[in-house]
Amino acid sequence: MADSAMPLPANEETLPYYRPVDREIEVFEAAASQRLALLLKGPTGSGKSRFIEYMAARMGRRLVTVTCHDETAAVDLLGRHLIVGGDTVWQDGPLTAAVREGAILYLDEIAEARPDVIVAIHSLTDHRRSLYLDRRGEEITASPEFMLVASFNPGYQRGIKELKPSTRQRFIALGFEYPQPAVEEEILIGETGIDRDRASRLVRLAGKIRGLSELALTETVSTRLLVDAASLMAGDLPPRLSCRVAIVEPLSDDPDTVAGLTDLAALFF
Ligand code: ADP
Repeated sequence: MADSAMPLPANEETLPYYRPVDREIEVFEAAASQRLALLLKGPTGSGKSRFIEYMAARMGRRLVTVTCHDETAAVDLLGRHLIVGGDTVWQDGPLTAAVREGAILYLDEIAEARPDVIVAIHSLTDHRRSLYLDRRGEEITASPEFMLVASFNPGYQRGIKELKPSTRQRFIALGFEYPQPAVEEEILIGETGIDRDRASRLVRLAGKIRGLSELALTETVSTRLLVDAASLMAGDLPPRLSCRVAIVEPLSDDPDTVAGLTDLAALFF
């Protein structure tokens, strides 16, 4: 019955690479077995999408990812009637298909979703676990294996696109912060094959940049940017150039900040 008791695929090597950072696997499995919706909170590039890809593969579930933005209406996700050869046929949207078949539905950047999308998922996040298709007058009860996961980037929202408390409280939440240096180093090595010395320099550089609150960067250096820099270096691009294009330029357009970050990177490479 409990999903956590399901046999795991025998070979961890066939799964997407994911280095656990805390107790997130345990929490995910508990949420799945208790049929709770899960919110992954954290800055961009902190491993949320990789984690969900890993968990879906590990649990043998199909993953349906919807990247939310203000152009996506509920009908795009729920489904619509199509005219086919003179007949009207109903076609499930990705959300409906996921609910019927018991997939993991990942609403990436849920705060960007339109209010009608949020309304549509409400009944999925409580005891009803159902979806109402008003265009068909049909109520679908979610397959027992269906799981709703959403991501939310608190820093990036900066009060502009907040998630309403009434929506937030429908999810249990896991915080994704940047990993401890030793773990982040391992991620760089595991993901790109870079040597430990350069991985460690990159992580120390990231530590410095993350500590520079006076730079007023909208977002600071993410694990993703470090992975990009490491993969460029592993592919033999010179280290300073790798840092410039993968870390410095993506973080800022301000010439003084770019110069400052370039100098900082030169202390490590
Ligand atoms: P998010 O969804 O939070 O924006 P991603 O999951 O896309 O971030 O992570 C960005 C990249 O960082 C991934 O493609 C992967 O290379 C790397 N990464 C971050 N955290 C981890 C981790 N714990 N294990 C493996 N790779 C990770």
